[in-house]
Amino acid sequence: MQVLLKGGATSLQRLVPIWSVSHRLIHPSVTRLAGARAPTSVDLPDRAKVVICGGGIAGTSIAYHLAKLGWNDVLLLEQGNLTCGTTWHSVGLVGLLKGQSVLGQVSRWSAELYESLKEETDIDTGFRVTGSVSVAQTQDRLTSFKRLQAREREIGTECEIVTPSEIEKLVPYLRTTDLVGGIYSPKDGRTDASNTVMALAKASRSNGVNIVEGVQVNKIRSENGRVSAVETSHGTVKCEYFVNCGGQWARDIGLKSDPIVRVPLHSVEHQYMITKPIPGVEPQKYPYVRDTDVGNYLIDWGGGFLAGMFAKKGKPLFFDGIPEKSEFLSMPEDWDHFAPHLQGFLKRVEGAEKAEVQQLFNGPESFTPDGLPLFGPAPEIDNYFVMAGMSSQGIVYSGGLGRVMAEWIVKGHASLNTWCMDVRRFTEYHNNKAFLRDRVTETEGNAYHNPYPGDVNFETGRMLRCSPLFGAQRQAGAVFAEKGGVERPVYFMNPANQEALYDDLQKGSFGKPAWFDYVSEEYWACRESVCLMDMSSFSKFELESDGPEACALLQKLCPNEMDMAIGSVAHTPMLNERGGYENDCSVARVSENKYFIISPTQQLRRGFKWISKHLPSDGSVQLRDVTSHYTGINVLGPRARSVLQRLTTTSVALVDMKPFTVRDISIGYANAVRAISVTHAGEDGCVLYIPNEMAINVYNSLMSAGKSYGIRNVGYYALRWLRIEKLFAYWADDFNDTHTPYEIGREHRVKFDKDIDFIGKSALLAHKKAGIRFRLTQFTLEDHDTDYHHWPAGGEPIYRNGQYTGLVTSSGYGPSLGKIVCLGWVTNSDPMTHEYITKASYEVDVAGQRYKAKATLYPHKQATRHALIG
Ligand SMILES: Cc1cc2nc3c(=O)[nH]c(=O)nc-3n(C[C@H](O)[C@H](O)[C@H](O)COP(=O)(O)OP(=O)(O)OC[C@H]3O[C@@H](n4cnc5c(N)ncnc54)[C@H](O)[C@@H]3O)c2cc1C
Repeated sequence: MQVLLKGGATSLQRLVPIWSVSHRLIHPSVTRLAGARAPTSVDLPDRAKVVICGGGIAGTSIAYHLAKLGWNDVLLLEQGNLTCGTTWHSVGLVGLLKGQSVLGQVSRWSAELYESLKEETDIDTGFRVTGSVSVAQTQDRLTSFKRLQAREREIGTECEIVTPSEIEKLVPYLRTTDLVGGIYSPKDGRTDASNTVMALAKASRSNGVNIVEGVQVNKIRSENGRVSAVETSHGTVKCEYFVNCGGQWARDIGLKSDPIVRVPLHSVEHQYMITKPIPGVEPQKYPYVRDTDVGNYLIDWGGGFLAGMFAKKGKPLFFDGIPEKSEFLSMPEDWDHFAPHLQGFLKRVEGAEKAEVQQLFNGPESFTPDGLPLFGPAPEIDNYFVMAGMSSQGIVYSGGLGRVMAEWIVKGHASLNTWCMDVRRFTEYHNNKAFLRDRVTETEGNAYHNPYPGDVNFETGRMLRCSPLFGAQRQAGAVFAEKGGVERPVYFMNPANQEALYDDLQKGSFGKPAWFDYVSEEYWACRESVCLMDMSSFSKFELESDGPEACALLQKLCPNEMDMAIGSVAHTPMLNERGGYENDCSVARVSENKYFIISPTQQLRRGFKWISKHLPSDGSVQLRDVTSHYTGINVLGPRARSVLQRLTTTSVALVDMKPFTVRDISIGYANAVRAISVTHAGEDGCVLYIPNEMAINVYNSLMSAGKSYGIRNVGYYALRWLRIEKLFAYWADDFNDTHTPYEIGREHRVKFDKDIDFIGKSALLAHKKAGIRFRLTQFTLEDHDTDYHHWPAGGEPIYRNGQYTGLVTSSGYGPSLGKIVCLGWVTNSDPMTHEYITKASYEVDVAGQRYKAKATLYPHKQATRHALIG
C-alpha cells in the first residue's frame, strides 16, 4: 500500500473513489436511507408538550424514552431526513470501558437498548457483541489500562488485561511484536447507527411520538423565562419543553432564542479509511481493535477493514458557519491528516500493504472544550434541555443518555449524577467561537492520546480568564492550570527550571509528580509561616433586599442558620428537594439585608441559576453575579494576621476577627476590601475580596509587608494536599447532588431547630431516620512507597475486608503524615455505624496493586495541629 502525500497522484490514489459523488453506493447505512426524502407538504400540530430538535441518535433516543415513560405528546423535528446529520456515517462502535462510572453506566444501557430493539420493532439494528481489544505499545499505556480495569470494578463491566500472545489469539491478523499488552473487553459491541435510529423512530412512533422530517426549527420562544413555543419553517408550535439535539448545529440553535442558550461546541473533521474486500477477512469474527498510542481504531468492514482515526491535532471545520444544505454531508478526503494513522494501520495489520483503499471518508462531528458531551438543563431558559456535543461518542452514549434525559424531563431530576457532562459546567466565556475552534484541535485526540490520570493541561484556548494577579504570578514562576476557563497557579517554581522540566510537567505521571518538592515547600509554608493564594476563580454572588426578604430566601435555601449576626459567615449546603447538595457555599452576612455568597468555581452558572430560580416573583430580592468584580487573595498561615495587621488600622487579632467572620477593611491604599476569615485550607488567616482595580496594589503591599516573615506565593496543589489531609470534601470532586450532609459528615450544618421548612428538610429527616448507607471517609495508604509506587488520582476502588465498597474521589500527599491520603466512599446495603467504617481492614487498588489503607472519619492530629509561632 503506497500513498504519496502532499500532492501528486499515485496508483493508490487513483483507486480511491471521490466520496462526494459515490458515497451512497458505498456506505451501507446510506443505501438503506436512499429515497427517504423529506416530505414536500408537512402537517404540523399547533402544540406539543415536548419539541425535540434533531433526528439523529440523540433526538430519537430521547423521544423513545419519553414515550416509554408515558409522555407521548412529543414532536420531533428534523430539518432533513432522520440520521442525515452526523449519525449516518458513524462507525457504530459501542465500547463499554469508559473510565468514569457514569459514562460506563450509560454505555451499558445503550448496548442493552440497541440489542433489545430488534425484538421490539422487527428492525435489526445491527447490534452485535464482538468484544474489543485495546493494545498498548508502552508500559504507561498498559498502566492506564490496569487503572481502567480496576475502575470498572464499580459497575462490574467485564474486562481483562491480556499479553501480546493472548492478543494474537484474540485477533490473529494483528502484528504484536511491538506490544506490551492490552485490555480485552468481551462485551463491547457494534451497531448500525442508521438502523438503530430507524428502530428508535419506529418504536417512538408506535408509542405515539410525532416525528416530522423536512422541518427546520428557526426560533425558540420563551415567556417568563420558560419555553413557550418553537417557530419552524412550517409554522409555530406551542410547547412546554424544548430539547436541543442539533448535533453540530446545536450551538447555532442555542443562538436562536432570547436569551441565547450557550452550547459550546465546534465541528471537527473526522476520518476513516475503508479498504476493498480482502480474502480471509471474515465479518464480525474477531473483536475490533483500538491502537490508542497512534489514535487508531480498526474494525472489519464489508469484507475488508475500516481504520478510523482520533487525530492528535484535530482539524476544526465551519468556523464561518455550517453550510445551509448539509444533509448527508461529507468533506474532501485529507490524506496528509490521515498519514500517521495510515502508517499505524500498515504497521499493525498483517498483510495490510497489499490492501487496496476503497475510500477515505471525512465526516464532520462536534467536539466540546473537554471532549465530554453537553447534557442537561440550560440555565438560561427553564424547560430548555440540551443533549449535543457528543465528541465522537454519540452512538455509545445516546441510548443511555436519552433514558436519563427523559427521566430528567419527566421527574424534574436525573437518576444519575451526570455533572461531568452537564452543559452548566461551562461558562458563557466558553461559548466564544475562536476559543472553541482552537480548543477542539486538542479534544478530538485527547481521549486516545493521553493515558495519564488527573487534569488535562490543554495548550490551546488558554488565558481565557485571568485574575489581575496573573502577570505578577507568572513573573514569580507560577505554573498555571485552568478551572472553569480561569488560569490558576497550581504551584510556583524558579522560572529558569520551568523549561528544563516542561516535558515532564506536560506529560503527566502515574507516580510521584515532577512538582513534588515545590508543592511540599508550599505546603509547609502554609503550615508554618504565611502564604498568598489566588482564590479569584471562586464563584461570588451578592444577594440583597430592602427588607428581610434576602434573609428569608436564604433560610429557605440553606439548612444552616442564615439569620446570623451581621459580620458572621456560615458554611452551608444548598439542598435540593431530595436532600442532596445542589451547592456548597460560604455565606457572609455583610449587612442586615445583604449577603455575600462564595461557591465553588464550577458553580458559576449552576449556583446562580439555583438561587435565581427561587427568587420571589415580586422582585424584592436582587441577585448579582460579582465573580468578575473581585480578586480573591487567600492570606493563610500562622503569620497571616501579623502581616495583615501591618497594613490595616482595624484589629485583625483573633479576638477581634474570629474564624467565620467578615468585615470590610482597608489594606494599604485600598478601601472596602472584604476580609472573610475562612481559608478553605483549615489554616488560620482570611481571604481578601478586593475590587479588581486595587488587587495588584494589595498584592504588592502584602508581599512587602510579609517579607520579613518569608511570605510566598502558593498554588492549588498545596491547597489540595492541605484540604485532603484535613478531610475537607469538595463539591463535584468528592460529593454531588445525590449526597446528603449526613453522608459527608456535615450534619452539624443542618439546623432542624431553626423552625423553617428549608428545601430538602423532609428528605433529610427521612434520611436521618433510615440511617446512612454511604459515607465519605479518609484513608491513608500504609504500605505504599511514594517514591516507587503508582499514585492514586481519584477513581481507584476501595476494598473493605476484601469486598469492593466504593471509589476514591480525590487524593494527595499528606506531608505531615508522610503518606498518601485519599478521600473515598464506604458503602453498604444496610445502614452503617462508625464502627462498621473504622473497624475493618481496607485496601486501595492503584493500577492493579492493592495497598493497605487505614480509614478514619476525623482528620489526624498532625494535619490539624497549628504551628505555634509568635
Ligand atoms: C467518522 C465518524 C465516526 C464515528 N464513529 C462513532 C462510533 O463508532 N461510536 C460512537 O459512539 N460515535 C461515533 N461517532 C460519533 C457519532 O456519530 C455522533 O456523536 C452522533 O451521531 C451524534 O448524534 P446527534 O444526534 O447528536 O447528532 P446528529 O446525528 O448530527 O443529529 C442532529 C440532527 O439535527 C438536525 N438539525 C440541526 N439543526 C436543525 C434545525 N434547526 N431544525 C431541525 N433539525 C435540525 C440535523 O439535520 C441532524 O440530523 C462517529 C462520528 C464520525 C464523524
